[in-house]
Amino acid sequence: MRTVLITGASSGIGTACAETLAAENYRLILCARREERLKALKLNILSKHPTCEIHVMVLDVRRYEETLSAIETLPEAWKNIDVLINNAGLSQGLEPIQDGDIGDWDRMIDTNVKGLLYVTKSVIPLLKKSELAHIINIGSIAGKEVYPNGNVYCATKHAVDSLNKAMRIDLLPLGIKVTAVNPGMVETEFSEVRFKGDVDKAKSVYAGLTTLNGYDIAEIISFVLSRPAHVNINDLLVMPTAQA
Ligand code: NDP
Repeated sequence: MRTVLITGASSGIGTACAETLAAENYRLILCARREERLKALKLNILSKHPTCEIHVMVLDVRRYEETLSAIETLPEAWKNIDVLINNAGLSQGLEPIQDGDIGDWDRMIDTNVKGLLYVTKSVIPLLKKSELAHIINIGSIAGKEVYPNGNVYCATKHAVDSLNKAMRIDLLPLGIKVTAVNPGMVETEFSEVRFKGDVDKAKSVYAGLTTLNGYDIAEIISFVLSRPAHVNINDLLVMPTAQA
């Protein structure tokens, strides 16, 4: 049975990954800041898969010492991790640089770039023990292109793109596979977070477009993880058919 640690499991793509991988007999370490959400997800998964083993870990990926300590002090039974899904992330603000908010920039850089690095560095010692070790980095179409007012978010996802390539090279001697999964538009709470709770504005982003949902991404991750040891999928761009 493989163990997967998922950051950002309390919502959207992370929740879909947890549910999808639970159905495939993975043991789950569910991480995010909102503990109640994680506990509710655990109960929901257990109602469908009563034998699924689940460990809930409250984590703010922006805090290195806390992240390291949470991972180092995992119960013994959870100290052999096979898969890390670096999924926690956000976009905030959608303004030109000259109008950008410093707090928004800090939150995006701290979460999407530094947080991904902090979790990865903390988890690698536990991944090294697995013969099926794999890191999945959730990037974005925003890491491949730049769109109007996407500036800092796009920069953070371009950084994820670079880090994914760098990790693949650096971790090769450790036998750890590394894959970037880069989605286009996925309907989650992402847009609501971007517009700071303005639900109408958030919904308007999806108007007239059939977007992806979290399960579309989770199924692809499940496929990536199911490849034999000698096959690695380095980089995937997954778009809604209707998105330009
Ligand atoms: P959601 O807003 O639904 O989920 C984001 C998750 O990240 C939540 O579980 C949230 O949990 C977690 N998170 C945010 N900040 C932190 C933090 N500081 N510490 C720990 N966890 C944190 O969005 P998505 O599911 O859509 O986003 C998941 C990933 O997919 C992100 O990296 C995003 O950039 C990427 N992506 C999304 C796209 C989309 O259109 N939705 C498109 C391309 C990429 P909590 O608040 O409980 O901490």
